[in-house]
Amino acid sequence: MKFSDLGLSPKLVEAIDKANYENPYPIQIEAIPAILQKRDVLGIAQTGSGKTASYILPILESIQQKDINKSRSIPVLIIVPTRELAAQVEEVIRIFSEYLPRKVKSMAVFGGVSINPQMMKLNGTDILVATPGRLLDLLSKNAISLADLSTLVLDEADKVLNLGFKEEIDEILSRLPKDRQNILFSATMEDSVALLIDKLLKNPLKIDI
Ligand code: AMP
Repeated sequence: MKFSDLGLSPKLVEAIDKANYENPYPIQIEAIPAILQKRDVLGIAQTGSGKTASYILPILESIQQKDINKSRSIPVLIIVPTRELAAQVEEVIRIFSEYLPRKVKSMAVFGGVSINPQMMKLNGTDILVATPGRLLDLLSKNAISLADLSTLVLDEADKVLNLGFKEEIDEILSRLPKDRQNILFSATMEDSVALLIDKLLKNPLKIDI
């Protein structure tokens, strides 16, 4: 199986090639076509499986079809538990978007640093990678809008919940438009994650790597 067999456009396949990824990993073979088709996806996967590229690549594909964002509305939101993961995910976005014709604006926002520099840079963001607390802070300051969100990714959902972010997640979910694509990754399927999956995902493709 090759990346060109998964429904990605030649421009994306070229970008993947330039980023020196040779062949897709199993999780990518399953997740990429489903996410391109706008299905909800549940991935039970560990770090090292290639889970990040499995959702970033189809998301970049859909952004390639969109006009440049000039608003504070965020089309794609990726929620992560920690600033380290936020930075890693953003790095994967950058690796591929460097080679794409339609420029992609991504931002990683997390707590523990001053909010003002983040606020000033947010306009026109295509992909926001955020930890839950800082995301709520930015929403309460009206720095972003999630009213037009089309895709939500919750990465390392078990860790998000184990760090005590359940209320923040509920609050964030209550502010999202109903009609959207949901993607959830978790290393484990503990009860709290199962509850969240029931609430969040509609007829998801389940991938267990
Ligand atoms: P992840 O599980 O998303 O943290 O990815 C683990 C590592 O695998 C990262 O360093 C990726 O850059 C790398 N990786 C992911 N997919 C591929 C692929 N298809 N070919 C080569 N390296 C990959």
